[in-house]
Amino acid sequence: MSAHVCYIGLGSNLGDSKQILRDAVQALSQLGQVRCSKLYQSPPMGPQDQPDYLNAVVELTTSLAPLELLDQLQKIEQESGRVRLRHWGERTLDLDLLLYGDQVISHPRLTVPHVGVMLRDFVLLPLLDLNPNLELQQQALAELDVVKTSTLTVLADETWGAPLA
Ligand code: ATP
Ligand code: CA
Ligand code: CA
Repeated sequence: MSAHVCYIGLGSNLGDSKQILRDAVQALSQLGQVRCSKLYQSPPMGPQDQPDYLNAVVELTTSLAPLELLDQLQKIEQESGRVRLRHWGERTLDLDLLLYGDQVISHPRLTVPHVGVMLRDFVLLPLLDLNPNLELQQQALAELDVVKTSTLTVLADETWGAPLA
């Protein structure tokens, strides 16, 4: 079975977000081999009367098919006790499938690349931690204005997601 290099966006702004994201990395490591970006803090999209988010990206090398992987991501969200009150509102855990190899997928449940990839600094900066030369639609992500002008806060280096000794 062939393995695919995928990127998963992680976000949380309810509960003990750092622990929730660390548990999510642990759960993702059951699906394949993982590498972790730095940990970022970012202001919310949408409603502004909610806490800042913690964000990161995990590189996952997996033999799961795209919809199988989405099922697993949604299962991990549910198992974190995912609570979500409103559109783009606060939640315990959000896992977005950002990239699945270089595949383009248009399915009622799954759009890949994820709609936010080229637009959101809290996705782009951690993606670039993992792969500084990443290109999408023949565009080097490091060259995007949203990357160059970003003022995101780095909270921790790449070791934050490793299980505590
Ligand atoms: P956004 O997608 O703009 O980041 P969101 O993460 O808040 O917003 P959700 O409510 O978590 O959106 O997801 C809504 C639906 O999006 C899910 O039920 C899922 O089927 C669908 N979806 C489509 N493409 C993807 C993808 N690449 N990764 C995760 N979910 C996806
Ligand atoms: Ca999202
Ligand atoms: Ca989502």
